[in-house]
Amino acid sequence: MTTARILDFIRTRRPDGPCLVVDLDVVRDNFRSFRKALPDSSIFYAVKANPAPEILRLLAGLGSNFDCASVTEIEMAMKAGATSNRVSYGNTIKKERDIARAHALGVSLFAVDSHEEVEKIARAAPGARVFCRVLTDGEGAEWPLSRKFGCVPQMAVDVLVYAHQLGLVSHGVSFHVGSQMTKLDAWDAALGDARRVFDKLAQQGIHLKMVNMGGGFPTRYLKDIPTAQAYGQAILTALHKHFGNNIPETIIEPGRGMVGNAGVIKAEVILVSRKSDEDAVRWVFLDIGKFGGLAETMDEAIRYSIVTPRDGDAMEPCVLAGPTCDSADVLYEKTPYPMPVSLTIGDEILIEGTGAYTTTYSAVAFNGFEPLRSYVI
Ligand SMILES: *Cc1c(COP(=O)(O)O)cnc(C)c1O
Repeated sequence: MTTARILDFIRTRRPDGPCLVVDLDVVRDNFRSFRKALPDSSIFYAVKANPAPEILRLLAGLGSNFDCASVTEIEMAMKAGATSNRVSYGNTIKKERDIARAHALGVSLFAVDSHEEVEKIARAAPGARVFCRVLTDGEGAEWPLSRKFGCVPQMAVDVLVYAHQLGLVSHGVSFHVGSQMTKLDAWDAALGDARRVFDKLAQQGIHLKMVNMGGGFPTRYLKDIPTAQAYGQAILTALHKHFGNNIPETIIEPGRGMVGNAGVIKAEVILVSRKSDEDAVRWVFLDIGKFGGLAETMDEAIRYSIVTPRDGDAMEPCVLAGPTCDSADVLYEKTPYPMPVSLTIGDEILIEGTGAYTTTYSAVAFNGFEPLRSYVI
């Protein structure tokens, strides 16, 4: 969403070079929509989506909790005003000394997906609460996270029994349906798996309390997406279906859905050219590419909405590429991107819906290009 405030900022401040501008009003609206859609779920903002201090401070003030993947993210959330009981260490892959540091900071909620990780937590954070992540198939997600995190539900049962035996509090089950999930029913199967893990543990006298339903809530790029309200409704229906009147505590961890539509990247056309006189497709080179923050164009997975100053003119499909000397730095080629025929060197364009997963993905100085600058307004 390119808000009037963002346009005004770009027009009056005229920042040089590519930059991200994030409108905090949009983040605030998103937080309120999630809270309204799922009033009984605690919101844990996934810090990795955009860890700008202004965003963390705003969300801490609104009562958000924080899903952190490292000690640095935990420290950033706490610096923004969150107390340690509002922080979850949600990465299933942690060094034992980082678990100890988080424990020393007061964090007592940890993700696991293996026996080995449970052992580390039992040693470094004795008595802590753990939840076990189960695999999902990621089907319907434009940026799937499957395979790397989680274990099969039967193993989750064993992992949580083991945690209990080692003196930890087996607190619940988590899953992530995959990022940019556009299917409303994606949570249903995962909640069914969660319920079966609850039942198997109850048979052994261990009573889980919590289901962490992860992130996955989308940002609108080129296609319309369902509202937060529609996601909330689908999730509530699935919770009732699988848990009846015994709905456990629930957590959601929106990242993209909290900040994606709050940011716009201003970029510039550096070159428009062809590879031969007969070439039907022009190449448009921007001053930002895969290494400047647009890493989610990998495999052309995320297709951003791009606004140019010549959008009324005739359009023609173009290959869109970044400025670095790496041939991987091509954004859209398999499916060329329609751009105005009149587009020319020096034109400023806006890449919309870029508030999530851009600043954190930009390289420090590849080819001497500075990391993506960000303004939070
Ligand atoms: C990345 C991540 C999220 C956020 O996912 P989105 O799809 O951006 O909402 C939530 N939880 C965990 C554990 C994550 O790793």
